[in-house]
Amino acid sequence: MWKLILLALIIWLGFYIFKRNLSNFKAPKTDENMASNDAIEDMVQCATCAVHLPRSEAFLVGGIFYCSQSHIKRK
Ligand SMILES: [Zn+2]
Repeated sequence: MWKLILLALIIWLGFYIFKRNLSNFKAPKTDENMASNDAIEDMVQCATCAVHLPRSEAFLVGGIFYCSQSHIKRK
């Protein structure tokens, strides 16, 4: 009986250490991802051809993004 409890304890300890190492390993990774996300510019979609492009390169007309002047829908 004691062997079983000891075995369960060892397994639990193993999982505990594994989970702790995993979260320690993940923590800097998520920080890195957040930092790189900040560096990446917002992508917007052209309303005419649905192409994705950086916000700074897009034409914003009436709250709608377009990839080029020729794609701006004229009313
Ligand atoms: Zn377009």
